Amino acid sequence: MSELGRLLTALGERSSYDAASQCSRCGYCEQSCPTYVATGREAFSPRGRNQLVRLMLEGGLSDPASAAEALSTCLLCGACQTVCPAHVPTPDLVLEGRRALRGRGPALLNRMARLMRERPELFRSLLLWGYRFKRWGLADLAARSGLLRLLGLAPLAEMAQQVKDAPSRLLDAELEGRAELGPASEAAWSYFAPCGPRYLLTRVGRATVAVLGALHGRGARSDNPCCGLLSFNYGDLDEARAAARAVIMGFEAAGLPPGTPVVGDCSSCVAFLKSYPQLFLGEPAWRARAEAFAARVKDAVEMLPPERLPRDETLPAATVHDTCRLRHGQGVAAAPRAALKALAGGCREMGRSEHCCGGAGAFAFVHGDLSDELLKAKVAAIADTRARVVAAASTSCLLQLERGLAMYYPECRAAHPTELVAEALARRARTGEAHHHG
Ligand code: SF4
Ligand code: SF4
Repeated sequence: MSELGRLLTALGERSSYDAASQCSRCGYCEQSCPTYVATGREAFSPRGRNQLVRLMLEGGLSDPASAAEALSTCLLCGACQTVCPAHVPTPDLVLEGRRALRGRGPALLNRMARLMRERPELFRSLLLWGYRFKRWGLADLAARSGLLRLLGLAPLAEMAQQVKDAPSRLLDAELEGRAELGPASEAAWSYFAPCGPRYLLTRVGRATVAVLGALHGRGARSDNPCCGLLSFNYGDLDEARAAARAVIMGFEAAGLPPGTPVVGDCSSCVAFLKSYPQLFLGEPAWRARAEAFAARVKDAVEMLPPERLPRDETLPAATVHDTCRLRHGQGVAAAPRAALKALAGGCREMGRSEHCCGGAGAFAFVHGDLSDELLKAKVAAIADTRARVVAAASTSCLLQLERGLAMYYPECRAAHPTELVAEALARRARTGEAHHHG
């Protein structure tokens, strides 16, 4: 079976059909849904999508093509779930509907996900070659020559094409020998490297490790595989479960002291790690292991106690973009604001900060027009605050915001909250040294 069949909802474990039936069609969520606000189309609203999924599960769907469009344009942002009085888990239902429509997902993506898990060294070297081609201005040639495609790695070719500043070293190489990292048996935290900071925005991973070390003492990192989110959202549930099992086994084998938090710095990935128990509702032993693991998982923004953050007088006016999977997926809204207040002395609120920026994983590649519309609205809201830096806690948002800011508001930059903390800590260390020497 290609669907989960059962979901963990705010009201307890339910069949997907019962969860979809909890939608009373009240419409309370419509104005919170970015795709409904942008299009005004009922089919692109949470209510419309829940209705479609219910019909699909009943076997009463008459028009699979329009259902596919309505479900594929959902950002999975979860804004509807946050405001819904019945807590209907619309994003999970949309995913169930997508799986029911298309079975096991694109073979190419599944092949790449398996390669990442089973042959991580090969995956990394192929990625680095993709980046090299790009830096040499040969990205098109590489894509045209079909080398990566031949290997069944079209998504990888796509990824290497899209990245603006391809890193010359991946995070694993950068973290080797770092003073913040020590033996697992003495670790105060364990860094989980999500694919974004690990393969793309390595600057974020470097900052997170520096910040965790400075604020919490020495930690550890294990060579975790991909969390499986890509497979969960676009591919194959079996592959997502295989990834989750590999992550959990790695965590259990690491020998961390009891209670050590497992910290990741891409909120989409972290929200998924926290939701692992839902993958194993039919397997009690694995469900228990997943629950033990998920209880330890923390988003990096939850590890920034404001009282320990230095004030950085040089930080310009700052605002927070609520990344969907932090705010709606994990229910965390106060932490990034408290961090900015401590660092910058204030946090400017933008209008509809909780609205999706249109990044949403691969959404920007697939639904370019809708994504651009959401991005323009997001950048306009940022510009209205006159902020010069916007903090965002996920890779996909950072890439999307960087693209939008470069086009429409270049005075402002996007950064992960841990990058801003790392900059403030480095500044304090430098000025402290200067005072010392003076
Ligand atoms: S998802 Fe919730 S808020 Fe939206 S229409 Fe259904 S019950 Fe109402
Ligand atoms: S998850 Fe987001 S885009 Fe999808 S229905 Fe809910 S609010 Fe709309």
